[in-house]
Amino acid sequence: MSNSDELQYDQVPQPIRKDGAGSPDYGPRDVWRDIENPDMLVPPLTDNGLMPNLKFSFSDTNMKLNHGGWSREVTQRELPIATTLAGVNMSLTPGGVRELHWHQQAEWSYMILGRARITAVDQEGRNFIADVGPGDIWYFPPGIPHSIQGLEDGCEFILVFDDGSFSDLNTLSISDWFAHTPKDVLSANFGLPKKDFKCIPKDQVYIFQDNVPGSLENQKVNSPYGTISLSFKHKLMAQDPIVTSGGTVRIVDSTNFPISITIAAALVEIKPGGVRELHWHPNNDEWQYYLTGQGRMTVFAGNGIAKTFDYRAGDVGYVPFAFGHYIQNTGTESLWFLEMFKSDRFEDVSLNQWMALTPHELVKDNLNVGPNVINGLHQKKSPVVKYPPYTYHPNNND
Ligand code: MN
Ligand code: MN
Repeated sequence: MSNSDELQYDQVPQPIRKDGAGSPDYGPRDVWRDIENPDMLVPPLTDNGLMPNLKFSFSDTNMKLNHGGWSREVTQRELPIATTLAGVNMSLTPGGVRELHWHQQAEWSYMILGRARITAVDQEGRNFIADVGPGDIWYFPPGIPHSIQGLEDGCEFILVFDDGSFSDLNTLSISDWFAHTPKDVLSANFGLPKKDFKCIPKDQVYIFQDNVPGSLENQKVNSPYGTISLSFKHKLMAQDPIVTSGGTVRIVDSTNFPISITIAAALVEIKPGGVRELHWHPNNDEWQYYLTGQGRMTVFAGNGIAKTFDYRAGDVGYVPFAFGHYIQNTGTESLWFLEMFKSDRFEDVSLNQWMALTPHELVKDNLNVGPNVINGLHQKKSPVVKYPPYTYHPNNND
């Protein structure tokens, strides 16, 4: 699909609300983007005021293509409000290697497709070598050297760093350091003749193509100091989810993945017709990565400010600290996304639970609602809701 000529007239959305507000757009426009952003073209009547941009798609970033894989990133440069976390989407071919490197930031990752082998060595000389597959996450603390290599089928994953200004193209790499160290220093450091280093890369390698590694057993390196005691790996999808009427939630933070002390996450599934309930987070901003499906999120900033953004697989979303929000599935398949926080804990406040646990007279009089509303409240959290027959209709923009 390349231009609007291929669309029937009635398929071209117009910036006109049901109440007649607006007028047709005959001018220069990107119709496909308007179709992808129905709530920007025709904002819900409840939207109001000014809000920073809370969406950036990986499809609007430049790929870095290498033999062995690719990467692209959404950082504070792309999405200025996103100061707490930065994301890198990376793919490695079978055998493709994200080279030995380290950085000042912690690295959290979710494997989307395929499998990889990860390696790390800590300051005590203990090592960690493990294979990760779909639904697994890993965490490397700041400064700990590591690598990632695609296995038989290659892989794709999302990396999240605990600093919005991070760039994966600005890390400390083994090849880079070698290239910028005099050969006689390398010779002295390793106690070997200079000629042993004559073929080293002249610059940072970043990603390169290598052979698919053998079995874990085959590649095992026995450290005299043992292996790293806290696992750098966690099987998130293997975790029993919180199951609610509208979907599922899997929470991972330092309580069940102890190494991950600076990044907490929830993997959320919103089934068709479901809503991630009205809530906010009392600890930090939320950085989101949309894995499948499509949805829309409205963010409430106080003082009458509320803004709706549309999201689909491959998008990054963001919610500033404590701003109220909810996410609706606007598609026909499950919407899966990650809620990420620069924090040791996942924390959220449920609007419904707050009301349920506050004196009922007070809530009733504050909102001028009847006993029906009070009786329908839930003292237990239900992060993703779906209440037939009140199923919401995605195209009912009024
Ligand atoms: Mn890294
Ligand atoms: Mn949230």
